[in-house]
Amino acid sequence: MVERQLRRRDVTDERVLDAMERVPRELFVPDRVRGRAYDDAALPIGAGQTISQPYMVARICEALELHGDEKVLDVGTGSGYQAAVLAELGGEVHTIERLEELAELARASLAAAGYGDRVRVHLGDGTLGLPEQAPFRAIAVAAAAPELPTTLYEQLAERGRLVVPVGGRHGQQLQVVVRSPEGPAVVRSVPCRFVPLVGEEGFSA
Ligand code: SAH
Repeated sequence: MVERQLRRRDVTDERVLDAMERVPRELFVPDRVRGRAYDDAALPIGAGQTISQPYMVARICEALELHGDEKVLDVGTGSGYQAAVLAELGGEVHTIERLEELAELARASLAAAGYGDRVRVHLGDGTLGLPEQAPFRAIAVAAAAPELPTTLYEQLAERGRLVVPVGGRHGQQLQVVVRSPEGPAVVRSVPCRFVPLVGEEGFSA
């Protein structure tokens, strides 16, 4: 997966490549799709949601430019896989999921993979962030937002980075946003397709 899907494309950050080599992706997918855990694709994880394609996880992690001691927020826990990769790259990871069923499964998978003490799983509307834990040096959003989620931007530390797919329900562009005194500095990255972010500053259910 790392060689063919990441390195041969355009993922160059060695810390990200190493992190993705270390996290056992098969522990984050349901039994029925375990044989496809390392496919170049998003896979169903139940409740109509998906574990993101490895390439998108890599692109998001690379864009966050983590060095090892940062406080990170992961919005849309899903399987917990992205949170585990972030735990390999940053310091303290908080992840938030709106569906209780998935939050519980992710907690169990994270513990089984050895990330139980490095990742805290929260239940709630991630479009509102986690004000009691802010500010964050980096925020990763793994679901599509109709526009830049302002509340999340405001929970970034100065020069902090937010990566979020922005666009319609059926297609988005990954945006990399840096908090600056002049306001959000936005760089558009690759086209992508994520499940919708459902919440106060997202889509309606
Ligand atoms: N990073 C995940 C991707 C999961 S898909 C992984 O690696 O598996 C996106 C997830 O975002 C889904 O589980 C969905 O339920 C969740 N989600 C959607 N809107 C949300 C919101 N407002 N707050 C928190 N989670 C949300």
